[in-house]
Amino acid sequence: MPELPEIEALRRYLLREGLVGRTVVEVDADWPGVEDTVDGAGGLSPLVGRRIEGIERRGKQLILPLSASAPDGRNQVLGLHMGMTGRLGIMAPYEESFRYRRLSLFFDDERRLELDDVRRWAMVRLEDDAEAFTGGMGPDALNPEFTPAEFVERVSAKRSPIKSVLLDQKVLAGVGNIYADEALLMVGITPSRRADQISVTRLESLHNTIVGVLENALSFIESQPDDQGRPYVIDAQDDRMQITRKPGAPCPQCEAALKSRKFGGRTAYYCPYCQH
Ligand SMILES: [Zn+2]
Repeated sequence: MPELPEIEALRRYLLREGLVGRTVVEVDADWPGVEDTVDGAGGLSPLVGRRIEGIERRGKQLILPLSASAPDGRNQVLGLHMGMTGRLGIMAPYEESFRYRRLSLFFDDERRLELDDVRRWAMVRLEDDAEAFTGGMGPDALNPEFTPAEFVERVSAKRSPIKSVLLDQKVLAGVGNIYADEALLMVGITPSRRADQISVTRLESLHNTIVGVLENALSFIESQPDDQGRPYVIDAQDDRMQITRKPGAPCPQCEAALKSRKFGGRTAYYCPYCQH
């Protein structure tokens, strides 16, 4: 599943490809069931004639602000969420479509943006503003304006286990299950520790580690593009992660067998000796 680092790599790819400033000339979203999965209220046809004004990200959501529409002068945004298997590509006219193409936006330079999604859980919606798409999400985990002090304030206000708090997108956006486990192991905090009982120093260190883990994953993804320069959506079971997500796998620090436990339906892996 694409997580924050994959989506940030996608955002940078779209920027590199010069998507900003392009105008949509045609929308093609013609697969069965589109109304339920991709087309939102009113469909995507109002996109025609609108210019892409930017490419932003909040957690795992991509937000593309659009130029105002002619009749009512409204500034809207195009929100995209990649679901389980979604990915995006900018294609030249001669390039073949993705195998599981669900949507094409054609631009005024004859290129097109394609959404490929074998599982069809991606979402694409036209909304009045970014907030309508991200609805109540907390600050983005990699936003430089999201300071350690704000992290401490938001997290220490919670009495739930730290693992659940890190996954709560209303507290902070974009920390996925595997990244939360990696960061907690690296700072030595056990996932069941109540968030409001962790010292400020340890929480500051946790924030720093989360940023490091996410940035490390982003560098890894960006270092391995496909032949077209597009970022892969890589299964996170790879070299960038320290934890092998199997019961009994060795702790990367002390080699004791890792334990697992569920928090809100998500499995946490942790070391009973290195984490307190
Ligand atoms: Zn250990």
